[in-house]
Amino acid sequence: MTDIAENIEVVKSSIAEAARRSARDAEDVELLAVSKTFPSEVVSEAVDAGLRSFGENRVQELLAKQLLLPSHLRWHLIGHLQSNKIRKVLPCAEAIQGVDSLSLARDIDRVAAELGLFPKVYLEVNVAAEASKFGFAPAMLESQFEDLLALKRLEIQGLMCIPPPGKEPEDSRKYFIFLREFRDQLEKQSGASLAKLSMGMSHDYAVAVEEGATLVRVGSAIFGTR
Ligand SMILES: *Cc1c(COP(=O)(O)O)cnc(C)c1O
Repeated sequence: MTDIAENIEVVKSSIAEAARRSARDAEDVELLAVSKTFPSEVVSEAVDAGLRSFGENRVQELLAKQLLLPSHLRWHLIGHLQSNKIRKVLPCAEAIQGVDSLSLARDIDRVAAELGLFPKVYLEVNVAAEASKFGFAPAMLESQFEDLLALKRLEIQGLMCIPPPGKEPEDSRKYFIFLREFRDQLEKQSGASLAKLSMGMSHDYAVAVEEGATLVRVGSAIFGTR
């Protein structure tokens, strides 16, 4: 077994244990392997080990790897997306994670209509009100949610967050709880479904699963340090 295959086994079993602790089904948690900065030969090892979903934060890098790797893989764009890259990435991405403003959402909706697409998107929430982070402030998302729902081309899957870096995995828990409860509240107030929660990275994905993550974005725990 390669190191990467071993790492994937460890991550999968930690996800399964965390799901068991919180009486969830591990099948309801998708593992997105964050392959940014790793070359396609390395990503290929994760494909051989059975992974199908990969996350990249740069459009150019996503497109380049997609060309070099098997066509049945699914690629999520996980970082901030610049409006001028939308047209390039929409046809190639399974989901856009990190839609962080109404104006970006409108741009995606418009380009999607031109291309005849219905992109899956996640709305990014700035859970700790960090000035340095992208994402909707919760109050802003609440007030703009109807406008977002009116963008008929967008298939809004749910919410995503990147908590501030903490010392311990437990430090992220309150932000994961916040995202889940905020999702519940948005659903209640709008009647819309926001089934997915993208939360948890290498150091805190087990906590995220305990708090309801349906997708964890794991890079270094699979591929090593960048
Ligand atoms: C890089 C990145 C990850 C993965 O981080 P690791 O700590 O390597 O698991 C997850 N989500 C986003 C948005 C990222 O940019």
